[in-house]
Amino acid sequence: MEFDLIHRYFKTPFGRLARANADTVLVGIGDDCATLQLLPGHHLYTSTDTLVEGVHFFSDDSPHATGWKALACNLSDLAASGASPLGFTLNLSLPEINESWLADFSAGLLDVATRFNCPLVGGDTTSAGPNPSKTLSITVFGQAPITHRGFNRAHAKIGEEVWLSGTPGLARLGLLLEYQRRDRLAECCQGSELHQVQVLLDAMPAHLRQSAVIQLGTPLPRLELGVRLHGLASACLDLSDGLSGDLAHISKASDVSAVLVQSSLESMWRERWPEICQRADAAELLKILVTQTLKGGDDFELCWTAHPNHHDAIQSFGGGLHCVGFIEPGSGIWLQSPSADRTRVSARSYNHFAETQN
Ligand code: ADP
Ligand code: MG
Repeated sequence: MEFDLIHRYFKTPFGRLARANADTVLVGIGDDCATLQLLPGHHLYTSTDTLVEGVHFFSDDSPHATGWKALACNLSDLAASGASPLGFTLNLSLPEINESWLADFSAGLLDVATRFNCPLVGGDTTSAGPNPSKTLSITVFGQAPITHRGFNRAHAKIGEEVWLSGTPGLARLGLLLEYQRRDRLAECCQGSELHQVQVLLDAMPAHLRQSAVIQLGTPLPRLELGVRLHGLASACLDLSDGLSGDLAHISKASDVSAVLVQSSLESMWRERWPEICQRADAAELLKILVTQTLKGGDDFELCWTAHPNHHDAIQSFGGGLHCVGFIEPGSGIWLQSPSADRTRVSARSYNHFAETQN
């Protein structure tokens, strides 16, 4: 039964992708070990993530989106390291065999795997026993030339600029919409924030709602960007826990402070939501959007620091990249207002006006 299941949902549907990568996947699903061939002069990169039903995804989420996201968030770790995918393994712990769930989940995985040319090379399939939740664990393998120094979080230097891809915070809007749809908005924001968020969600135009839902459900790992940033970015990470919390990792590891410029974060949102400028409450809404960007979570966009000499080269990659701050001596994350006041942003907290710098 188990072998049957592995064949039906994994070995067979992923067979074409494995064959197309026969020069990389020397041995794939079916043997004790997979054997992968690195290009000469390359390092192996690996990363793993686990998703638990009820914690990282809803039980009634579409299985296709669950499969997509499970692989996309792992590939995003390779992107943040500047690595290109070689393949991945999948560990599944299932309370029951639900054939239609498995078929859709496998299709979601295959869509991302095909899009980013990342073959499935092995895994493990077990019963969850009395545990009623599914657990999915993915390990990705990637490679980058040994000449790539890596994007160590400790490599941010004073005077460098802070950059973002896409519109971090968008996935959080998707999550808030999802909670609102389930009538559970109060579970993710309290007090005055709940009211602000309700106003924001009601003001969102259809195109923004749609992009927020897509960003949350089917994020695209920034693999191409990660490779293009070789030799340009110093520190880099992907935004899984929110801008303030994730940037705090860079600031701690590099022993520096990061200053985010409120007006730059607002311009980023105006680009995504151009009609906002015509609204009387635009200033209010933009403030709420910046707060949600700081809290964020699940965007899988990249955040990196780079020397200002590289500004034009990075800008020339095209739209959707935003220089939103800079690195200074000190510690922590700060938000700089248009009047140049600075407010400390507490990592992962929306109450970023709590402590003001003298
Ligand atoms: P073993 O007993 O050697 O661990 P398994 O019975 O667990 O082998 O798995 C048989 C083969 O199927 C192995 O090559 C394994 O990598 C692969 N496999 C098992 N589960 C999965 C899965 N969920 N996705 C992809 N490959 C899998
Ligand atoms: Mg096994």
